[in-house]
Amino acid sequence: MTAKSTTQVQGEKIWMDGRLVPWDDATVHVLTHTLHYGLGVFEGIRCYRSADGRSAIFRLTEHVRRLFESAHINLMRVPFEPERIEAAICETLRANQLAEGYIRPLVFIGHGAMGLNPGDNPVRVAIAVWPWGKYLGDDGMERGIRAKVSTFARHHVNAKMTKGKTCGDYVNSILAKREALLDGYDEAILLDTQGLVAEASGENLFTVRDGVLRTPPLPGVLGGITRDAVIELARDKGIRVVEAAITRDELYIADEVFLTGTAAEVTPIREVDRRQIGAGSRGPITKALQSAFFDVVTGRDRKRERWLTYL
Ligand code: PMP
Repeated sequence: MTAKSTTQVQGEKIWMDGRLVPWDDATVHVLTHTLHYGLGVFEGIRCYRSADGRSAIFRLTEHVRRLFESAHINLMRVPFEPERIEAAICETLRANQLAEGYIRPLVFIGHGAMGLNPGDNPVRVAIAVWPWGKYLGDDGMERGIRAKVSTFARHHVNAKMTKGKTCGDYVNSILAKREALLDGYDEAILLDTQGLVAEASGENLFTVRDGVLRTPPLPGVLGGITRDAVIELARDKGIRVVEAAITRDELYIADEVFLTGTAAEVTPIREVDRRQIGAGSRGPITKALQSAFFDVVTGRDRKRERWLTYL
């Protein structure tokens, strides 16, 4: 696997169950329920250094809302109010003196009962932060990455609850991602159980053809917060956006294909399954949306300041 596919992380403090603890003390019992069965939920959030030198978290409220929705879908009651989690995220960034980076809130079930019914085991919350550069590489952001349609299908909507970020569901993403990397690609694109394009291992997908942006509709995919932002930014530029099914061969004949996600931001795809996409480099619409996105997250787009929580 390539270096960019792994991230070693280290910081000062981690917020656990209501207080900041030293990084190395943020440990759990081996019978932690989530560790065995995967019933836990998480978020991925980014904080950016603004053009004016301050730090801002991108769409904090929406991410925390989705964290609580993920917990609700899974019948988990988070023992804190959303406002407390938002404040804890800010505290954790400050405690680690992290001006720019990635934020990982995790809600998990602690130890006590074993077996599939977690019973009264405590629901626990951890928040870690760490520096994280371009998830799919600096080069990938400029030149585009190479993707492969996975042999693994995205779970059916009634198997994997698509509106939740549930820990165990990510085994499906990991299988697809590792297969893609081992086969020499950068990322995996998963089809749904009907054979239509769903999303990448941890990103939503867009195509551009004849100037029209297309992305698979929400029922089968995670409601990506970056996806939502990119749709708004595109419409604002007068680009038509349709949420409609995409077939595998429509990827091959698209003018542009790109991915959106908190980690991947807006990443162009230059090749799918050894077919060159468009001119084989980052396309003009992808480039325009990428730069609009970075204007937003760095506070240059005044119209979208409502999406930023300054530290
Ligand atoms: N799909 C999946 C499966 C993901 O894990 C993610 C990352 N959270 C996304 C899409 C993109 O969502 P967002 O833009 O909210 O990060």
